[in-house]
Amino acid sequence: MGRLTIFTFALLVGLSAAYTTNYHGYQVWRVENIQEWQVERIRSVIDTLLLDVWASGDSWVDIMVKPEIMLSLGKTLARHGFEYKVFIGNLQSLIDSEFETLKLKKESRAVDNTAYHDLAEIEAYMTEAASTNSWVTMESIGTTDEGRDLFVNILAVPGSGPKPSVWIDCGIHAREWISPATCLYGIDYLTTGYSVDADVTALLDKYDVYIMPVHNPDGYSYTWTNDRMWRKNRVANSGSCRGVDLNRNFDDGHWGGIGSSNNECSETYHGPSGFSELESQAVRDYTTNLISNNGLSIYYTIHSYSQVWMYAYGWTSDLTPENDQLEAAARAGCDALTAVHGTSYAYGTIYHAIYPASGTSIDWGYSAGVVHTYTLELRDTGSWGFLLPADQIIPTGEETWAGLIASIMSI
Ligand SMILES: [Zn+2]
Repeated sequence: MGRLTIFTFALLVGLSAAYTTNYHGYQVWRVENIQEWQVERIRSVIDTLLLDVWASGDSWVDIMVKPEIMLSLGKTLARHGFEYKVFIGNLQSLIDSEFETLKLKKESRAVDNTAYHDLAEIEAYMTEAASTNSWVTMESIGTTDEGRDLFVNILAVPGSGPKPSVWIDCGIHAREWISPATCLYGIDYLTTGYSVDADVTALLDKYDVYIMPVHNPDGYSYTWTNDRMWRKNRVANSGSCRGVDLNRNFDDGHWGGIGSSNNECSETYHGPSGFSELESQAVRDYTTNLISNNGLSIYYTIHSYSQVWMYAYGWTSDLTPENDQLEAAARAGCDALTAVHGTSYAYGTIYHAIYPASGTSIDWGYSAGVVHTYTLELRDTGSWGFLLPADQIIPTGEETWAGLIASIMSI
């Protein structure tokens, strides 16, 4: 009988959810039709209550709402005249169904684009791309605080002489799983497409392409083991809250400004100083090297969600002197992207398209001399948010890479 009891217990443990952070009762609300005069007020509500902003646009914002503040937040929003509606009514059930899909896939997991992959699988995916193509290199460019490596996959066609570079990183925010998946899709698409697909061939004949699927490896791992909604890295801060928002940690001379927080517990904590983080340092150093070698022509960083193609600046409402060029390349990207599956995209500066943000990697890239720096926010527009179903990885990859290549080749 004792044996049977132990067996039953083990079985139950095996079937329970892996995550230690539970989102039972959590919702995602969209506050919408926000008027110009209400912008400061919603910002102050968000800052005061340390609300987790999932995404935002010029007149709306999606916020994750804990059950214990639901009633008071609803009253606060109503009192200030905000309109809002529930976008995701039961967050934990979406996490549970994603987890069930992952468990089913686990049995016959191959390197493919029909499922999301954890860090070890991503590393295996990259290793395979490098080992089966002599012109693909995989390089480790640094180590995180928790000892996890940052890897870059470099795609360079040999024998065609030194070429300028394109940098593409994904996964700077841990919970945006479609982002690393889209970088992996790109590695697969470019490695199998050279000399087969005219667009891929033209791209790789002109540029060396550097792809970093996971800019934030320990944060990403944490979303697989503990907290699906984790955003920052996992560095230990001086207080009890962990993590720095790496996309507020780049120092273009405006680090610590508007749209970043000095509160260690905030989702947009900018860190104790500009480039305090190993991950942002590694990317700064590597891309700086590319700039001074054969030139870095274009710098992309890929996020989700809200379907927007953005460029500098994030820290100010001013436009760059090259705004017309940036807008034209973004428009070319959006047009090609939409042509694939009809997915609609907006474009504009970070400041105008989503929200003011200081310390972003593309503002730094712009300040370092790479004029063509872009941020993409991939699918969707909020129905699934960060829990985009895995059956959208391939269509997202198809449209995004059509857009990226069209945009790059338009420059
Ligand atoms: Zn992001």
